[in-house]
Amino acid sequence: MIKYININHEKYGYDVLALFQSFYPQYSWQLVFPGCREQILQEAEKIGFFVKLNFEEGDNAPVRVLFTEDGEEITYPGGLGADIKEGFGNWLYDELKKRTGKGLPWGTLNGVRPTKLAYGRLCEGESDEEILGYYLNERRTSPEKAALALEIAKRERDILKNIDLTNGYSLYIGIPFCPTTCLYCSFTSYPIARFRKEADGYIDALIKELEATAEIMEGKAPETIYIGGGTPTTLDEGQLNRLLGKLEELFDLKKLSEFTVEAGRADSITGEKLEVLKAHNVSRISINPQTFNQETLDFIGRKASVQELLDIWPVAREIGFDNINMDIILGLPGEYIPEVEKTIEMVKELKPDSLTVHSLAIKRASRLSQWIAENGKEALKSSDEVMKIAMDGAKSLGLLPYYLYRQKNMSGNLENIGFAKPGKYGIYNILIMEELQNIVACGAGCVSKRVFYNNGHIEKIERCEDVKEVPLYCEKIDEMIERKKELFKRSQQ
Ligand code: SF4
Repeated sequence: MIKYININHEKYGYDVLALFQSFYPQYSWQLVFPGCREQILQEAEKIGFFVKLNFEEGDNAPVRVLFTEDGEEITYPGGLGADIKEGFGNWLYDELKKRTGKGLPWGTLNGVRPTKLAYGRLCEGESDEEILGYYLNERRTSPEKAALALEIAKRERDILKNIDLTNGYSLYIGIPFCPTTCLYCSFTSYPIARFRKEADGYIDALIKELEATAEIMEGKAPETIYIGGGTPTTLDEGQLNRLLGKLEELFDLKKLSEFTVEAGRADSITGEKLEVLKAHNVSRISINPQTFNQETLDFIGRKASVQELLDIWPVAREIGFDNINMDIILGLPGEYIPEVEKTIEMVKELKPDSLTVHSLAIKRASRLSQWIAENGKEALKSSDEVMKIAMDGAKSLGLLPYYLYRQKNMSGNLENIGFAKPGKYGIYNILIMEELQNIVACGAGCVSKRVFYNNGHIEKIERCEDVKEVPLYCEKIDEMIERKKELFKRSQQ
């Protein structure tokens, strides 16, 4: 059911929307502000508003909030803090907590990187007490999430102590092909059966972009390489060999701390492909079940079977991979406590070196979004209890939380957490999430990031994107290269 929020100040719309979405996840929410499309205005007028927010002129000014369904009107007096966003956000959070009788684990934090604040404050020399106090009082997080954010930030700082954040860089390479498209997917992904012919042309264009990147970054050596997608192992052995060989030819890999290939789906992996990865010194791979319940895999269109994963896992170990990550997703359709318990039992048997626990995110561009429109959001279940099963499982394997991020519309309003054995952390994962180092990303749909430092402090971050569509990427490759040159050749301004 859709609920409308009337707000006269578009600037604060996203934060207000995020709070209502989190406190009332059973509804879909739509903001209505002056100047928005006539059609939305008419629909909202017809159905009526759930709440109306009227910001008076000026920062720190009062805000009147009218809950139209029960007629209650409350007023934020203003002047609760220098920043109306934080002051008003905390006030609205407290009011919604009273109305619903529940709090939110992450409080008013609605961004992707809730640990970034702790990391920054640690680097500024704040004490544990100060950081925890900030999370609890200024951001309304639960004590557990505040402690988790601090624990992860400390571990990240330790893991990154030998990484050159200001002068080094990481290289990301995207392979946008998959065996089939999963129900929840919103990544750039083309089913390989239909795009097998295009794959060679894609690699040609990708190699051209990598050659240009090697020139742009001349004199510097990548510290981590991550090949993701899509599913890189949908490429055949010859294509993988060609791509990896080219990387060795173009880049100085002596400083490399980590070389990851996301093998991903078991239905794309063969012993021969793993041998190719090993021969090219790939140090970390990911083999992702997402769930060990075959029924769910069938339902979500992830054709890789549980058996295929169980078959390829010992092969990867025999070939010598001693750093294998596994991804699982909580909150998949039809899954709750017993199904997650079963998945965690299987994880414990296979003993991955790292485990990434995702909470299902509902992306507008995915087929899952359509499924929810037909079945209702209540059909998806996820909770702290389910996350606890996964966290306990990771702990029993000796895996420690080392990075965390959130996405919009996450099931159960939870988070994604990466756990790993000491020494088997995914360094690239931290760098991309905390936005601490330049990332040069090559391939369709990839986003490069330049982090501008000034006297050891991050001044700004700028991005450039490669187009998503494979044919367009191949056609416009020279333009993609120019964008990269412009971003990474430019001296600081
Ligand atoms: S394997 Fe990953 S990238 Fe490929 S379709 Fe499934 S979710 Fe998308």
